[in-house]
Amino acid sequence: MNLYRSCPFCQKESHQIDFSDNRVDLAMKRGDEIEYTCSGCGERMAYPVDFLYRKPSRWIKLISILLFLLGVPVLFYLTTYHHLDGEQVTYFLSGLTVAPITVYLILKEGDKMRVARFNEHFFKTS
Ligand SMILES: [Zn+2]
Repeated sequence: MNLYRSCPFCQKESHQIDFSDNRVDLAMKRGDEIEYTCSGCGERMAYPVDFLYRKPSRWIKLISILLFLLGVPVLFYLTTYHHLDGEQVTYFLSGLTVAPITVYLILKEGDKMRVARFNEHFFKTS
């Protein structure tokens, strides 16, 4: 999961991979301030963990589309070489559309909870 920060000098948003569940875990792992060098202006500064945030993952939609795209050739193969009858094709087609949507909704909900768990709780309350 990416951890985002916004440079106070040039406003460029950058990110790096980190798997901390919340800001307290992040502070325990890496300290309550984390040093970064901005890739936009080159300014080096220490960001308090409360200035770092998560955003929803962009991969979830892609995973669902890939699941759908992988299902199409399988359907084509099954209908061509295994002579599925009309009812079986109907079941497979509904599975082909329902499965990626279900996976998308489950992953999206999990991602929303992970983002909220990180962003809604601050390390220092003052
Ligand atoms: Zn900058």
